[in-house]
Amino acid sequence: MTVASPSSLYSDLDVDWQLDAPLAPHTWYGVGGRADVLIHPKSIEALATLARRCHRDGVPLRVLGSGANLLVDDEGVDGVVVKLDAPCFRAVEWNADGRVERMRAFGGASMEKLVQECARRGIRGLEQMSGIPASVGGAIRMNAGGKFGAVGDAVDAVAVIGTDGELRVYPREEIRFGYRHTSLPAGIVAWVVFRVAEDDPVACRQRVLEIFAYKKSTQPMGAASAGCMFRNPTLADGRVESAGRLIDQAGMKGTRVGAAVVSPQHGNFLAFEKDANTPARTDDMRRLVETVQSAVRAKFGVELETEVVFWRRGDQP
Ligand SMILES: Cc1cc2nc3c(=O)[nH]c(=O)nc-3n(C[C@H](O)[C@H](O)[C@H](O)COP(=O)(O)OP(=O)(O)OC[C@H]3O[C@@H](n4cnc5c(N)ncnc54)[C@H](O)[C@@H]3O)c2cc1C
Repeated sequence: MTVASPSSLYSDLDVDWQLDAPLAPHTWYGVGGRADVLIHPKSIEALATLARRCHRDGVPLRVLGSGANLLVDDEGVDGVVVKLDAPCFRAVEWNADGRVERMRAFGGASMEKLVQECARRGIRGLEQMSGIPASVGGAIRMNAGGKFGAVGDAVDAVAVIGTDGELRVYPREEIRFGYRHTSLPAGIVAWVVFRVAEDDPVACRQRVLEIFAYKKSTQPMGAASAGCMFRNPTLADGRVESAGRLIDQAGMKGTRVGAAVVSPQHGNFLAFEKDANTPARTDDMRRLVETVQSAVRAKFGVELETEVVFWRRGDQP
């Protein structure tokens, strides 16, 4: 089903837009089709009005972060896709005087740049995000993190534009952060206040580098992937098992469908081979995902769920 995105939804707002916009260049996988319309709001008010109108008219609205956890269908997506790349959504504010204790970052700000800026200024609190590609909004939505902690550990408050177009601020006490999950309601993360602290700049930089080096030594960071494809499953006895280990033990490392391949380095990284003669297609990755799920189900009776977000025409975002 194709849902129209009439220009009356956005043409009078403070936004730029592109019809039939390719989404592949906006994702780490670099594959997938087009958005009916890609909208770049230039203010929170414009974004809020757009969200309200889309909800009113039943037009799907999807938010694109840095595309590091996203697989877009070869047929593209319907409705409206928004990208928070205007200066107002990339801004970062530090408390003006006294010791730095709080920092506000808007939803489209780059998490990698934020981590680097903290290290440069000698501020700790976000070093666990070293080596994790994300926008601030995408990191919060996924509660991105790993061995050294998650983004939620540093959150003081999150502002979300709900489907009704209202901006609501959720203090930390009202948000539950779990494994790649938050209890925040559906909507668009407009900004986040982080709790941070001044520290020895040399120690801060050192910690960021150590965490980055660890990630680089355990994951194929340069591959066209979206990080871990599957969530680590909880087994019947309550233990959380590594999806990568199950995939490895099911003998799936190196398995390929077209240009999509299970990384020989890390079983939970499903990437596209860069020098493959076959063009990279989302459909091949989807079939590789199903092949891996079947193999793990057959060997261990465990159902692997995807962590990567799939965008498809007709799906309810
Ligand atoms: C090389 C590599 C390594 C990775 N390593 C890790 C890791 O160690 N740990 C980890 O957790 N993840 C990892 N990932 C996955 C990815 O970095 C995270 O999931 C990250 O949070 C994605 O953020 P994004 O801005 O790219 O979101 P996108 O991929 O653009 O979007 C992901 C989801 O977030 C939603 N979203 C985006 N912005 C907003 C917003 N402003 N408001 C509401 N929803 C929004 C999207 O609609 C979508 O549903 C890795 C990815 C890669 C490519």
